[in-house]
Amino acid sequence: MALSKLPARADSAALSRLASSVPTDETREEIPVEAPYSGINIQTIPASTSADVSAAVERAREAQPAWADRPVSERAEAVLRFHDLVLDERRELLDVAQLESGKARIDAFEEILDVATTARHYAHRADEYLEPERRKGAFPVLTDTRVYRHPVGVVGVISPWNYPLTLSVTDALPALLAGNAVVVKPAEETPFSALLLRDLLREAGVPNDSFQVVTGRGSEAGAALVEESDFVCFTGGTETGRKVAEQAGANLTDCSLELGGKNPMVVLPDADIGKAVSGAIQGCFTNAGQLCIAFERLYVHESIYDEFLDRLVRRTRGLDLSPGYDFGPDVGSLIGSDQLETVESHVEDALSKGADVLTGGRARPDLGPYFFEPTVLTGVSDEMELAREETFGPVVAVESFDSVADAIELANDSEYGLNASVWTEDGDRGRKVARQIECGTVNINDAYAAAWASVDAPMGGMKDSGLGRRHGREGFEKYTEAQTVAEQRAGSVTAPPEGVPDGWYAKAMLVSLRAMKRLPGVR
Ligand code: NAD
Repeated sequence: MALSKLPARADSAALSRLASSVPTDETREEIPVEAPYSGINIQTIPASTSADVSAAVERAREAQPAWADRPVSERAEAVLRFHDLVLDERRELLDVAQLESGKARIDAFEEILDVATTARHYAHRADEYLEPERRKGAFPVLTDTRVYRHPVGVVGVISPWNYPLTLSVTDALPALLAGNAVVVKPAEETPFSALLLRDLLREAGVPNDSFQVVTGRGSEAGAALVEESDFVCFTGGTETGRKVAEQAGANLTDCSLELGGKNPMVVLPDADIGKAVSGAIQGCFTNAGQLCIAFERLYVHESIYDEFLDRLVRRTRGLDLSPGYDFGPDVGSLIGSDQLETVESHVEDALSKGADVLTGGRARPDLGPYFFEPTVLTGVSDEMELAREETFGPVVAVESFDSVADAIELANDSEYGLNASVWTEDGDRGRKVARQIECGTVNINDAYAAAWASVDAPMGGMKDSGLGRRHGREGFEKYTEAQTVAEQRAGSVTAPPEGVPDGWYAKAMLVSLRAMKRLPGVR
């Protein structure tokens, strides 16, 4: 159904209430927010100024100590209530996320799963992550050494438009549980998902100023948040990530950067072809390919290449590309005109330089202004933009390889290193290949969900795909300052006891050092 005839479910009065709940102290410039299905502006949001962001951070800074003083179990209870509210209110969340991002409902639902899974994990593990740890002391028995973890203060979260529910809140949850206050700056294109989630967190018991959302442009509101925060968790493009890192570095502010990818999928000769084709469909076309961990490069062993390609093309042709606020369509719209332009220009460039399009390759204005067909290409070579640059659309290049060593070399031939997958019926072989691929996550016999949804394990990018990690202990501890407190119970490790000549002390210490090297309990 063409979109103009598709009634949006999200209520415009609710959107207007959300827009006016963004605290700004004067009338600000307004940024229009578009519904990608139709290209129609659905609302405007305030372009917060740096003064607005400073004021929000100041409020967060004032609220943070009281939030940190609460027992961690109380903070965890609030996050578990939030988990339930997200499930209860899923329909409105899905409607709003779809309205402002143009994604298929099944892709929005994946965000609900992710928010709930991350909330559950961190709510149940926060006390363990914050538990003071005993470490080996300088001198056995004589030194009692413990590590305490304190919140950093105010965490700034800057998020992109592609997963507006997940990426505005899942990185904030561990920060909140660690006792920080959080200020989120969502993408200009998708502010309403973040504002709705803010309301649910408040309903769940997180104080208003401990979790705030500021809207506005990256160049002003985003930069101001980087300037003012005690830790910056940024998710977005690699070029923006470099700017954020530079600005944070100048202030000696720590940051984590979750950036772009040009992710490879490798199909080994013993793979189950049917499962690998299903994995490729999911890995290439979920969220219309606008997924940082989506595949844009498929490498398939030559012995199964023809059959794999034939089945991939048939399955791709069968995908339902259409707008719809119900479950059903497989692939939704791109986010807007810039994204459509990038996808079209990458495909045109590849075709003009000799690539072949096996299916797709065209925009579909009959469905909505930014729809683009799921596209499979072969014959992509290095001089084409599509070979190396992130397309961030439903376009994949397929190539064959003859040796596993070649496949690993092809997979690693990229500036990026975010996500990969390996398909084989032999788990050991899969792990051996996976360990040689320079990506922060590698999935065996799955596209991306096995590693992503293992929220107990770190996720993030190597090379130009990022710095630091989300998920697991790593995604929690980054929001804390480690403090070592060591009690010396007798004597000093580095000074002779009173009345003992320096020479005697030095001799005794040499004996001790030699002995300690041999003692199994001293490391
Ligand atoms: P983007 O870099 O343009 O914007 C991301 C966010 O940064 C937005 O909120 C934007 O307003 C803000 N911003 C822009 N300039 C800024 C500045 N100078 N200072 C501070 N903030 C600024 O990215 P996008 O187009 O919204 O998202 C798409 C990109 O995000 C893709 O490259 C994708 O791969 C990447 N991404 C990565 C992950 C991951 O986990 N690695 C996840 C999702 C998306």
